[in-house]
Amino acid sequence: MSERKIRDRLIRKGQHLFDSPKQFIPFTNVTEADSLLNDLMNHPHAFVLACVMDRQFKAEKAWLIPYLISEKIGEFSVGRLHKLTESEINRLMSEPKPLHRFIDQMSGYFHKAVQRIVQEYGSDASRIWNGKPSSAEVVYRFLEFDGVGPKIGSMAANILARDFKIPFSDYFYIDISADVHVRRVFARLGLCKENATVEQVIYKARALYSEFPGIMDWPCWEIGRTCCKPRDPDCHECFMNDICPTATQKS
Ligand code: SF4
Repeated sequence: MSERKIRDRLIRKGQHLFDSPKQFIPFTNVTEADSLLNDLMNHPHAFVLACVMDRQFKAEKAWLIPYLISEKIGEFSVGRLHKLTESEINRLMSEPKPLHRFIDQMSGYFHKAVQRIVQEYGSDASRIWNGKPSSAEVVYRFLEFDGVGPKIGSMAANILARDFKIPFSDYFYIDISADVHVRRVFARLGLCKENATVEQVIYKARALYSEFPGIMDWPCWEIGRTCCKPRDPDCHECFMNDICPTATQKS
């Protein structure tokens, strides 16, 4: 089956979500936490700080951290956060129970991120993405935060573009997030070999659609999470089943 057909269908699915109206994003499935994270207008720094916390830990729990800190200090304004010392943040993140696996490191990153938002962005984190910057510029600005690597930088830019509908001047540098679901689906669709590395999947997505490689992220992740299970893929439920080489071999 032609790779082009597979590519085109994934892009079409991704484009459909990209073009759909903005919806409330269930980052954590805790309504209050998600309300804070969805409030880009008044609390854009909550989204940025959640991205900074999203490493070496379950994502849903990492994304809860801004809300849990706001509960403890009674608000989540940049002004209030800026008054907290690193050791106060460390205490807020460790008592009564740890909010992250690596409290010392993450409280340092959190503290530095708040300082950066104040100093570089005049306390308004939405300046990271406002004004229709290029995708590379947005990813680069995330990379300037301590603890943020290319994976999170690209994921942040993809969420801003795809889910928050923030306009960028281009989408070339928003990569696919090659997690376990995406890698499995890429392999079964015959887009890369089984056990391909993260880098191989990222570059394959770039090769398939350099204009916006990350647009294939959501369709692949959704297929992997719902029907393309590790042991027994439920191909009947999958919108790729008539062109997927694994499904056609099975039938
Ligand atoms: S058709 Fe089956 S094997 Fe192919 S991607 Fe879908 S669920 Fe996976």
